[in-house]
Amino acid sequence: MTLSIAKAIYALLAVGWYIIRIPHERRARRTPVSRSARGLREIILLSISFTGLGLLPFIYVATGFPRVANYPFQPALAWLGALVAIAALILFHLTHRALGRNWSVSLDLRESHRLVTEGVYRYVRHPMYSAFWLWAIAQALLLPNFVAGLSGLIGFGTLYFFRVGQEERLMLDAFGTEYGDYMARTGRVMPRFHA
Ligand code: SAH
Repeated sequence: MTLSIAKAIYALLAVGWYIIRIPHERRARRTPVSRSARGLREIILLSISFTGLGLLPFIYVATGFPRVANYPFQPALAWLGALVAIAALILFHLTHRALGRNWSVSLDLRESHRLVTEGVYRYVRHPMYSAFWLWAIAQALLLPNFVAGLSGLIGFGTLYFFRVGQEERLMLDAFGTEYGDYMARTGRVMPRFHA
């Protein structure tokens, strides 16, 4: 594994991520929204996340900027990063498949929104966010640059911590005790192993 290969893997996996999402974006556009928590706050959070997970690593992979933040490349870390990225892609695909029409890039409730509690949603209530965390970890392992490597964790972390509580309030509001019971038996981004 060389630095160029690590960068190429990162770029390829980013393309894969996008390809997984395209059909869901298309379908989402056709599925009417009945209630939305979109607003300036969501736009800012989505922009921060996109900058950290997409824009900064893209600039680094394409141009090497910012070179002052480089540190020595470690092939073993990059191999690990490639494995984590593949796991992230698989989980990302499974979450889209399970959410189906209920998916949204932001916080929306769609007409005839259904609470999904099966598939990868059985033990974890935010597996798509788990996939994004895995992606951010893979980015840090693959790109030996303090800015491009760590921006994913910071960017997605900001979206996650400001959004997840609001999302759960929205779901509780819409689904009441059904979501309350679901919360009691699941973990947020990792399965709960205690009874
Ligand atoms: N937080 C989830 C989903 C992210 S997509 C995850 O990480 O897997 C965000 C959209 O999914 C929001 O519009 C929200 O209303 C919807 N959503 C979140 N959890 C859901 C569930 N269990 N069933 C159906 N829709 C859900």
